[in-house]
Amino acid sequence: MARRLLLALLLAGVLTSCGQVPDSTRAPAEGTPSSPCKDDGADFASDVRLARCLTEWFWARRFQEAGKAYRPVTRFVAYDGENGPDCGDQRSVPNNAFYCPYGHFIAFDATWLRSMYDQMGDGAVYVVIPHEFGHAVQEQLATRFQYNVERELQADCYAGATLSGLLRTGVIQEDQGDEQELLTNLEAAGDPTDAWWAADAHGTPERRQSMFATGFNKGTSAC
Ligand SMILES: [Zn+2]
Repeated sequence: MARRLLLALLLAGVLTSCGQVPDSTRAPAEGTPSSPCKDDGADFASDVRLARCLTEWFWARRFQEAGKAYRPVTRFVAYDGENGPDCGDQRSVPNNAFYCPYGHFIAFDATWLRSMYDQMGDGAVYVVIPHEFGHAVQEQLATRFQYNVERELQADCYAGATLSGLLRTGVIQEDQGDEQELLTNLEAAGDPTDAWWAADAHGTPERRQSMFATGFNKGTSAC
């Protein structure tokens, strides 16, 4: 019961914020920057490329506003199950996406991401990819964390901020049901227990949704 209520409240928060987004059927307001990204997001591969391009564009502008230069990732690697790249001395694993600070790259199991896209819709791509770029940003900002879960929740917050920032500039529009898709994705990716001290902890579904919503509603500075 509690989770259902929380979900409904979060959804209400996200929806309220979306209400302030300019009507998506209208052209973006004058002075709104146009993105350099050419993909139309019409299929999975195109959506993945678009999510990467738009996310880096979003961060490049945030860094520029702060008088810094954003450093794009060096590689964006799609792998399939077992054949992903190593990160330092760590082997990549199936059904995962990760940012690797050694070499400053992002890799993802495309088969896994594709199955989430098929099951839950394109929102899956716009949670997973901005989340990993959130880790790339943490690395550039040299943000330090006491617990891994803090790192993960901030990446969720950055992902929410990225998405709302992109919606606001009009470079992506929401489809009916997108908010629910996004929250379903985060719920699926949450930890089953609240062992926040664990080395691989990402946070419970409720905490992840909550941090995503915080970023979505308040922007990167709230992360
Ligand atoms: Zn993460």
